[in-house]
This record gives sequence, C-alpha cells and structure tokens, in this order.
Amino acid sequence: MRESYKITLKIRRYDPDNDRSWIQDYHMEAGRILRFVDLFRKINEEQDPTLAWDSSCEHGQCGTCTVKVNGKPLLACELLVEDAVSYFETTIFHIEPLDVAPAIRDLVADMENAYEKVDQVMPYVIEPEPPFEEGNEHPITAHELEVYVDATRCINCFCCASACISSHNSFLGPNAMLATIIRVMDPREREKDKRLKVLYSDQGISRCHSSMACTFVCPKEIDVAHFIALAKEGRFK
Ligand code: SF4
Ligand code: SF4
Repeated sequence: MRESYKITLKIRRYDPDNDRSWIQDYHMEAGRILRFVDLFRKINEEQDPTLAWDSSCEHGQCGTCTVKVNGKPLLACELLVEDAVSYFETTIFHIEPLDVAPAIRDLVADMENAYEKVDQVMPYVIEPEPPFEEGNEHPITAHELEVYVDATRCINCFCCASACISSHNSFLGPNAMLATIIRVMDPREREKDKRLKVLYSDQGISRCHSSMACTFVCPKEIDVAHFIALAKEGRFK
C-alpha cells in the first residue's frame, strides 16, 4: 500500500474584483488518507493563502464543502486521496464549485437562490395531525417511518441538483422534490394537497428525465430517483 501520492489539483479560481476566472495548478505530495478539505488547507498553508473554499462540520453532515471533482459533485470532507486515485484512476483532479449557484470566489458559491428552491417547498410539517398539544409528543410508528426514513438523511448538499440533467431554471430540483415527498409520506402532515400541488406543478417531477444521476451521486446513499419514481407513478395522489 502506498503511503502518499504525487497529485495535481487543477482548481477553478474566480476573482470577483476583476471578474476573472482561470484554472490554477497545485502540485503536491499528499498522504493517502488526507481528505480533499485537508488538501485545500494544505494549499493555504504551504502554497497559496488566497485560495478560497468553504467547509463547516467536515463530517459529511452539512454539505458546505460540496465541490465537483473530475465532474462529479461530492463532499470534499469525505473524499480521501487514495479513494480518489482509485475511483477516478488518475492523480490529476479538476476541481470546480457547484454549478447550481454562482461562484462568490474560487470554490465558494452563493447558495442563497439554491436554498430558496428548498424553502419554496416548505421542508417542515405545516399542519400536524393531530394538532400538537403542549407536552404531547407526536406518535409515529417505526412501520410508518420505515417507508421514507432513508429520504430523511438528506443534508441539502445539492450534489443531486448539480448532477441533474434537467434544467436548473425550470426544475425545483431533486432535493426539493425529496423534501416534498418526505412530507407527503409523513403521517403527521395534514397539508398534503399543498405538497401535491408543488410535486405535480410545472417546476415539479414532470421535469425529471429519470436519468438516476441524483441517486448515483448522493453522498448519503439515498435512492432519490426511487422516491421521485413513486411520485411519478401517482402513489401519493
Ligand atoms: S432522475 Fe430525475 S431528478 Fe434525478 S438526476 Fe435524473 S432527471 Fe434529475
Ligand atoms: S438527496 Fe442526497 S445528494 Fe441530494 S441534497 Fe440530499 S443528501 Fe445531497
């Protein structure tokens, strides 16, 4: 087993002050279990303090460090050097910010509009059934939860939205659809009609081409396309 690899990161840079974009090469010897966020930090410390990138939890739970590596959207905090070399069969990695949002600087994207699409579908229980009473927990059985519990692992990292071949302008996106479907399947939600209106609207599942790219890239291993397919079959009407 190799302890380290000579790798090249070809990073898309963006300077908003001069509205200039370019690809910058960074060469380094990288330990096999360094993660890509560690590589960005290493660049800041050893080669270039001006490279901007973003992260928060660095434990695969927040989606802040999502970037595209060799075209695949993924969490930079979860990708180890040795896994990247083996998966992409190369030591050269092209790194770009997500394309669902405009770049603010280098790998940092402005996610506000992307999050607005999720907000639009109201990813929370609007009207609980029965109405919530102070001190009362809302009962939900393991059996009821089982059918959609996988979908609740979504962290809104937007990997699926970035990989989706449908238009980013006309489609609310796979993660927004998933958030809607979770609430349609949630026995506590009374406002199902509102949900169904969004699901079957012009910006809803009719925009999905069933490519399954969303399922393929989801770092939480959610079969997003399966949930969308259930909606397409009319299971929730
Ligand atoms: S299956 Fe549908 S939602 Fe998922 S990536 Fe393909 S087109 Fe987008
Ligand atoms: S469904 Fe998966 S890929 Fe899409 S936002 Fe949620 S966690 Fe990320």
